[in-house]
Amino acid sequence: MTTTTKYIFVTGGVTSSLGKGIIAASLAKLLQAQGYRVTIQKLDPYINVDPGTLNPYEHGECYVTDDGAETDLDLGHYERFLNVPTSQANNVTTGRIYQSVIQKERRGEYLGKTVQVIPHITDEIKQRIQILGKSGDYDIVITEIGGTVGDIESLPYVEAVRQLKWDLGEHNAIVIHLTLVPYLSAAGELKTKPTQHSVKTLMESGVMADILVCRTEHELGESIRTKLARFCNVTQDSVIQSIDASTIYDVPNLMLEEGLDKVVLKKLNLKRSPPDLTIWNQFLNRHKNPTSEITIGLIGKYVELQDSYKSILEAFIHAGAENEVKVKVESIHSGYLDEDNIKLKLSHLDGVLVAPGFGERGLEGKISAVKYVREHNIPFFGICLGMQMAVIEFSRNVLGLKDVNSTEMNSTTANPVIDLMEEQKNITDKGGTMRLGAWSCELKENSIVRNVYKTDTISERHRHRYEFNNDYKTQIEAAGMVATGLNPDTNLVEIIEIPNHPWFVGVQYHPEYKSTVANPHPLFVAFVKAALNHKINKKGVSMAQS
Ligand code: GLN
Repeated sequence: MTTTTKYIFVTGGVTSSLGKGIIAASLAKLLQAQGYRVTIQKLDPYINVDPGTLNPYEHGECYVTDDGAETDLDLGHYERFLNVPTSQANNVTTGRIYQSVIQKERRGEYLGKTVQVIPHITDEIKQRIQILGKSGDYDIVITEIGGTVGDIESLPYVEAVRQLKWDLGEHNAIVIHLTLVPYLSAAGELKTKPTQHSVKTLMESGVMADILVCRTEHELGESIRTKLARFCNVTQDSVIQSIDASTIYDVPNLMLEEGLDKVVLKKLNLKRSPPDLTIWNQFLNRHKNPTSEITIGLIGKYVELQDSYKSILEAFIHAGAENEVKVKVESIHSGYLDEDNIKLKLSHLDGVLVAPGFGERGLEGKISAVKYVREHNIPFFGICLGMQMAVIEFSRNVLGLKDVNSTEMNSTTANPVIDLMEEQKNITDKGGTMRLGAWSCELKENSIVRNVYKTDTISERHRHRYEFNNDYKTQIEAAGMVATGLNPDTNLVEIIEIPNHPWFVGVQYHPEYKSTVANPHPLFVAFVKAALNHKINKKGVSMAQS
């Protein structure tokens, strides 16, 4: 469509958590809906090489791409909005930039020069920004700069943006600056000063904002827009209001109303045509007009921070819309579950999802939850650690084995039904060493999953170290838990089911990463449907009894 790739930089000022990722994804959606090939990348200013080693409490979920990159959760939003896969190139951290510069220095690639932030770190950043653009696959690359303008750690990124704007030339690169316009209730006024200061901070680094996206809780009136334009060096149509929305999925339409795509395309000298948001709006319509409601228990140990299970929560929104059901997710901390309170905590639920996780805390609570739903025919969905818990519970309580565990939790357990693969045993590094990314899996005939996926081979994304121990497969299957998905190359068990239960499925992989607005994940769709059936049947039984 275009010959040169165009670049849009999204920076943020005043405070963190303004939702740059959602604005970037919404703009990308509007551009994609006009036929442009768009991708988004996120540059994170922290020193971790990737977020894989970050505690979910700190930074929310770690999102995994097909190529096995452990990335920022914003990439999840990009995929969910655009329905286009991302990769390692879409997420770069300061740690990764420094790692690669230091490796080049060790190889002697800088020919005896003193290696410095400018130009070496900034050149590396510039090169990473352009990798996707130079692939020829995209007309427009949106680069989200993590952090807040003015922070020490953001400086090299802002400098790289400053240089790139010159290198790429007019109409080829623009800067969107996201800021906050706070409302002071005592004064009854919206305040523009924080935005003015933020734009000024950006200018101190030599970067002019082309467009302002202003987060606000109240409508920006004409006079506020005029003031912002006048004091921040932008045209009035470049002041875009981003008002709090009831769902992130409303933001593309809100940006359309505000004309964000229009002003972006004008500044990039690109043609605008009306965006085709048919599929998006059909989804929104179903999402907002559910015909029934179900409650799913999400059992995990990071439940205090909603972002820890971001992709799972979003996958429920997609699957709910598909079924025209409102899915209420009740977060339950596995650390507070035990045999005595399990009925009280779970009996009202229409389905239970046991979440992914690491380490021992809350483990027995998860196992009690699996036991309860297995015995009470409540639909069960186990993801990664959740699947491993289902195997342990079954081996203990149905197979009757004693001292059963995963070697992650107890390295000397007598029956390690979940164990490390040989290849993992000698690995000591924690970052980037798990079984990561897309692996294929063959589905058994006459299984729930075969019915759900409607194909015999699938590819799903993984992020784990431990595996189902095939030494126990024959016994476990004979007792009624069946391995219905196998890795064709390694024979590793990827899926277990209990056929003698209304809906009991555990998967070693993370289906939630691949659920998008345009393609809700079939397993989530089927689980929501099973939970709805459970609710209807339960009601039927209680009505018959009364
Ligand atoms: N801790 C488990 C493992 O490493 C499960 C990981 C997960 O749930 N993502 O195998």
